Amino acid sequence: MLIVMRKDATGAQVDGVLEVVSKLGFKGHAMPGAQRVAIGITGNKGPISADHFRYLDGVTDAIPVSKPFKLVSREVKQEDTVIQVGGVTIGGGTFAVMAGPCAVESREQLLEVARAVKEAGASILRGGAYKPRTSPYSFQGLRDKGLEYLAEARAETGLPVVTEVKDVETLPMVAAYADILQIGARNMQNFSLLEAVGQVPKPVLLKRGLSSTVEEWLMAAEYLASGGNYQIILCERGIRTFETVTRNTLDLGILPVLRELTHLPVIVDPSHATGRWAAVTPLARASVAVGADGLMVEVHPDPARALSDGPQSLKPSKFKTLMQGVRSVAGAVGMRLA
Ligand code: PEP
Ligand code: MN
Repeated sequence: MLIVMRKDATGAQVDGVLEVVSKLGFKGHAMPGAQRVAIGITGNKGPISADHFRYLDGVTDAIPVSKPFKLVSREVKQEDTVIQVGGVTIGGGTFAVMAGPCAVESREQLLEVARAVKEAGASILRGGAYKPRTSPYSFQGLRDKGLEYLAEARAETGLPVVTEVKDVETLPMVAAYADILQIGARNMQNFSLLEAVGQVPKPVLLKRGLSSTVEEWLMAAEYLASGGNYQIILCERGIRTFETVTRNTLDLGILPVLRELTHLPVIVDPSHATGRWAAVTPLARASVAVGADGLMVEVHPDPARALSDGPQSLKPSKFKTLMQGVRSVAGAVGMRLA
């Protein structure tokens, strides 16, 4: 259910509606828009009658939401959600590039990459400290030490940092350091993690699951929003198909569809999508052209020696070329670079 307030509705009238919603045992989510406030209702097990709300002070309409995802849907909020983090804007016409190593491997490695991606024009630093690895024998990340190095790199470069939160246990530690909490593809349907991150007042980067449909992905985002965290960035990172020549199949076709279905910003990760560094720059350009709000790209000073994802990592000089291409395409489609 979506309650649409009149354009001239007062704050007291919005509060009055929220009170009625909570007395009925539901949760109300006030969503201010450019024209008016809308209130999304969650927590109902079945349909609720619009008549509970339609005649309240300041209300112009109460309409059922047809999609299974509610708060993240375009039906509930027409305006694009724009995320602000550490002075960087993501969405609403501003294109943000997140770049850095797959994993933080050492202080020197991270600082070297951080300086290089900043100089090339990236606006956010990525780096995994807690790594979800397919094999228990692979490098699992520097964990807390990795978070400290990320904080040091942020202090030096001014770049906000995005890093993965792997489980509920380490969430408080990761949330103490990260500017954006990354939920990885393997955890997209870890509902306990989604519920816990839904309570944290920090932006979340929600990667698409390896074999997830758009609806499953948006339902995962709905978990975050229903918990009260609306600062969600979606990240398309390729899905598993019959094709094995690339690590995954980059599904750029969903970008225009997501625009219709959701108000959330969407970024693309061409590194994990292809697993091949030579494919990353062309697909980064394509992502801008198709309407993405940003990119996540893996960069390593010495990909041949990387402890994870070397084959898909760009050397800093190649990343510079990527940024030049992204800048030209952004200009052609009327996007600003963050
Ligand atoms: C990553 O960003 O390093 C990562 C593990 O990505 P994904 O969850 O998309 O596989
Ligand atoms: Mn990686």
